Amino acid sequence: MTATGPPAIRIGQGFDVHPFSGDADRPLVLGGVSFAGVPGLAGHSDGDVIAHAVTDALLGAAGLGDIGQHFPDSDPALLGADSVGLLRRAVAALHDAGWYPQNVDCTVVLEEPKVAPRRAAIEARLGDAVGAPVTVKGKRAEGLGALGRAEGIACFAVALVARGAPAAGGAT
Ligand SMILES: [Zn+2]
Repeated sequence: MTATGPPAIRIGQGFDVHPFSGDADRPLVLGGVSFAGVPGLAGHSDGDVIAHAVTDALLGAAGLGDIGQHFPDSDPALLGADSVGLLRRAVAALHDAGWYPQNVDCTVVLEEPKVAPRRAAIEARLGDAVGAPVTVKGKRAEGLGALGRAEGIACFAVALVARGAPAAGGAT
């Protein structure tokens, strides 16, 4: 061991899954973008599975626990909450701890709707909240299992964070 001090970069991983809601009036929100005419996901908040996976990846990278600790689903104040707002609060917690997101990459697993037409809007909304590039890829489950039967939507995310302190002068 020749390194001194804590590492300057860390990686985090997040996963989330929500079933579709039976409530036809509940909108589908993915990455802070609403999809009209598509059934929404069940959840205490707005059920934004992408925003939740991104939040968990960032919190994990910074060693700050998970989304359930920061935003418990038993909190009535979070009923129907805008999950991008929760993501912004998580990013603020990272900043307080000296960590700054570098990029986040996501794979959202769903049969429908198609993500590609809204991908740029999702990436822009999440990138603004995170303060770093966020990339999103849609992937079908090819008919396999609950996701393949379109019973819900899942999302995987990985995040890279770096210490916000200026680069150490004099290091070679
Ligand atoms: Zn969730």
